[in-house]
Amino acid sequence: MPTYDRLIRYGMITPNICLLCLKDSENQDHLFWNCERVKEIWVTFLGWFNFTQGMHANDIHSLLVKAWQYELSPLAGNFWKAGIITVIWAIWTQRNNCIFDNQKFEARRVIQTVKVAFKDIDVNFSKLGYMWNSWSDYLILRAVGVATRSAPPPEFVEVHWWPPVAPWIKVNTDGSAMEAPGNIAAGRVFHDNWNVVRGCFHFKGGSGYAFEAELLAIISAIQIANRCGWHKLWIEADSTYVVSLLNSRSSAVPWRFKASWNNILEMLEGFSLQVTHIFREGNKAADIMANQKRLEGWWPHEIEEIKAAVRLDMASHSHLRLKC
Ligand SMILES: [Zn+2]
Repeated sequence: MPTYDRLIRYGMITPNICLLCLKDSENQDHLFWNCERVKEIWVTFLGWFNFTQGMHANDIHSLLVKAWQYELSPLAGNFWKAGIITVIWAIWTQRNNCIFDNQKFEARRVIQTVKVAFKDIDVNFSKLGYMWNSWSDYLILRAVGVATRSAPPPEFVEVHWWPPVAPWIKVNTDGSAMEAPGNIAAGRVFHDNWNVVRGCFHFKGGSGYAFEAELLAIISAIQIANRCGWHKLWIEADSTYVVSLLNSRSSAVPWRFKASWNNILEMLEGFSLQVTHIFREGNKAADIMANQKRLEGWWPHEIEEIKAAVRLDMASHSHLRLKC
């Protein structure tokens, strides 16, 4: 965007002063994130979504990711994403009005614009998803001024674990983060078509969020499969986030996983790969591997800790879960 710092760089002479605060010079970071006038706007916006402490708006990417990290409902998440874009657009429009119409910048007007946009979205788009039927979601939707949409009553579904067909190897991955963000751990179990556990492992990955633990689990699983020559690989994970990342071969991962993730994507060129989602209830053995605290490492066989869960998974013992 042609903020003043850029215009000066392009040789268009103009004084560089932020028209919002009239104190600092203007550049994109200042205008959209750091100016004291826009900070007020972000604090209000974050407050609507119940993010009142320890959260700062610094850039668009990390804000968008927060909808995953904090598991906003589909409905609240859609307003979160639309809201971020609208805030930025409204700041830019107001800033231009300061130049061309000689107006004074008012944070209040930006906030008003966002609320009006929310109303429009609410009226014009029918597929915004459901809210969680929770008090916190109710408060969020009330704060942004849109209608609540209750989720339909729950149904139960049965969840089964299925063995792979030869010569495929199946790996069930799971990640676990004790708190968010906390110490992340990743666990997984490999099976062949005879239902023999070909190996299992558990790694710890420093501090991070639950979805980062899931990511670490997938990365380690593919590295191990590659090392063992298991190139017909069926990955089953209980995180829809990593399943969709893998299926789309997307490289949108947090920066600290970038290098290993790109490596994995390259490795996968030589793989026949199937990726599916399973609910946590059908993923018991991997869940135990992810959550156990004692052991760390790779074992080319079944270990005592998961014996019972593996038997249950294999007996296609069904687990009930709420359908959502
Ligand atoms: Zn400023």
